Amino acid sequence: MSTQTASVWPETVIARYLTVGGATVDVTHDTLTVDDTKPNVSHAKCGGCPAYSNSEWASRADRWDNGSTWADSDARHWAQSHAETCRAIPKPTNA
Ligand SMILES: [Zn+2]
Repeated sequence: MSTQTASVWPETVIARYLTVGGATVDVTHDTLTVDDTKPNVSHAKCGGCPAYSNSEWASRADRWDNGSTWADSDARHWAQSHAETCRAIPKPTNA
């Protein structure tokens, strides 16, 4: 028997939402381009369908949180609303 909560999250995942179809939507910190050396975007990606969302962190360097707090909130909001409507079933992985 396995449960959703027993699965190990990748270290980069800061939030995970279960869709009505049984897939997961992961929120991670990521870089916008390959040239970026530090995370600068909050990335939400559905594991059941191609949908995703990028929330860019505010570029102002003098902000205490680099703008990530707002972007995290935005990405979580997208992930939750997508999880409530997505009925795609995750593709089985062949172990
Ligand atoms: Zn989806």
